[in-house]
Amino acid sequence: MANSGLQTLVLEAGGPSYGITGGDLDSRRPSWLDGTNLTRVDVPGLYKSIFASSDNLTCSLNSYGGCTVGGGSAINAGLFFEPPASDYDLYFPAGWKSKDMKNATQRLYSRQPSTNVTSMDGQRYLQSGYYAARKWLVDGMGFKEVDINAQANDKTEVFGHPIFDYASGQRGGPAITYLQSALLKPNFELQTAVQVIRIERNGGKATGVMALTNGVQVFIPISSTGRVVLSSGAIQSPSLLMFSGIGDPSVLSRLQSAGKLSPNLHSCQWINSTAIGAGLFDNPNTFIELEGPSIESYTHSYAAPPPSDEQLYLQSRSGPYTFASETSVFWDTLTRPDGSIAGFQGTIDSSGFGEYTSNQTITLNIYGTSGLKSSGRVVLNSDFLPVPDDKVYYSSPLDGSNIASFIYKIFSGLSSSGLTPLNLSQNSTEEEIEKYITTPSQYALGSVNHWSSSCRIGKCVDMDTTVIGMRNLHVVDASILEPLSVNPQFGVMVAAERASELIMGMLGREMV
Ligand SMILES: Cc1cc2nc3c(=O)[nH]c(=O)nc-3n(C[C@H](O)[C@H](O)[C@H](O)COP(=O)(O)OP(=O)(O)OC[C@H]3O[C@@H](n4cnc5c(N)ncnc54)[C@H](O)[C@@H]3O)c2cc1C
Repeated sequence: MANSGLQTLVLEAGGPSYGITGGDLDSRRPSWLDGTNLTRVDVPGLYKSIFASSDNLTCSLNSYGGCTVGGGSAINAGLFFEPPASDYDLYFPAGWKSKDMKNATQRLYSRQPSTNVTSMDGQRYLQSGYYAARKWLVDGMGFKEVDINAQANDKTEVFGHPIFDYASGQRGGPAITYLQSALLKPNFELQTAVQVIRIERNGGKATGVMALTNGVQVFIPISSTGRVVLSSGAIQSPSLLMFSGIGDPSVLSRLQSAGKLSPNLHSCQWINSTAIGAGLFDNPNTFIELEGPSIESYTHSYAAPPPSDEQLYLQSRSGPYTFASETSVFWDTLTRPDGSIAGFQGTIDSSGFGEYTSNQTITLNIYGTSGLKSSGRVVLNSDFLPVPDDKVYYSSPLDGSNIASFIYKIFSGLSSSGLTPLNLSQNSTEEEIEKYITTPSQYALGSVNHWSSSCRIGKCVDMDTTVIGMRNLHVVDASILEPLSVNPQFGVMVAAERASELIMGMLGREMV
């Protein structure tokens, strides 16, 4: 995002994804949506179809995350969980503690609707997994059943219905809320299909961005008081800094030798920092396939939903297509001997996966979350594309053993629920579980696209989100977050609210 004078210009590398931005609707939806103003991404139940056929909604530029108006929020499952206060208080630096995030969180709640009842008829659908998991975790193991965001601070032995950022049975998120009010302002402009390739700068002052549009490089200047805010995600934002001569000097030398840095930038102007791209985090995930006699598995269909479900959705925005497929969510923590805490999350989907897709199978995702010890780095591959290195998951052996002990703990109560794990024996020892979750397979060690923490506050940007060494260049996206106890989107949006407050403060203005 570049700001020149009073003008705010948002540059998005991808194209439109919503009906709101026009374009050819029929190429972006199944035929059962003909005659509506909906695209595939507006219908929550079509979430998984983005993996089956991309429609350019994802791309390698963003490490296979969302490359479209709204970024990941335009294609994701819409799970919307407020981080507990302890995430800010334990892991974030001064200025970003829970007391500092209160106003930002309140503003986010007032702008962004969210709900745990997605269907407009007020019913919850596909609940067989919820009931079985409640029997297992709440009745059997004593987890508390809670209203997840109302009790956001409680992340130890809690269970509940997932919260989604949907409204009226359709996808929500910042492109539906914040972007719509911004588009009404006379001084706001959104340009799509414009890929920023670097920031041009004079020492510590950004002068504009170099961008690629229709294959042509163009320089987009900012005014003498303008600012550039990078919000291109935790993989791209550090890379754009590197391409702007800000990063590890060995990487900058490689970029210079390949002619990738601005010809106007001499090496004496490089801002040498190994913190750019460091600390990259994604949740280590394991899929556990669970089967039980009470389970009625449900797989959303892109092209041909069951006629009754199609009608429920089209006529009253009700039924299984009003949510992505997650029926239940739970959290727990483990306090290590040194007093540090590891966080864990389980999310249960309405269908099986991989080799286990019977009508009585559901999928449990187990994530390691806040307080894990492993992190990696954004590196540039041989084509100078930014990618995660191989240290993101389990580079600290403690994470594998902590997550294994959590799975061991919850498996001990599983039999009372009638659920049986299919891909990992219920009688596994902690060592066997650790080996399973740290060995690559289709059930373990895959990315969950929750990239964060690659340009951390205090290391890569300062407390005001200004890139260290620069005066008018900011990073505001998942890069600046510490690893959270929850899926990242709520945290990204609240960080944007907090950053707006801080940047407005630098300009001597207050948030209204
Ligand atoms: C499939 C999937 C499912 C997910 N499910 C959930 C979920 O249910 N709940 C949750 O909390 N989180 C979920 N996430 C994660 C969440 O969506 C991300 O954490 C969040 O969107 C990150 O926000 P961001 O602003 O950092 O970056 P992004 O959302 O990735 O946005 C970056 C934007 O910048 C654009 N861009 C990148 N490079 C350039 C460039 N050089 N020039 C111009 N534009 C550029 C991209 O096209 C993109 O639009 C999911 C992610 C994925 C991919």
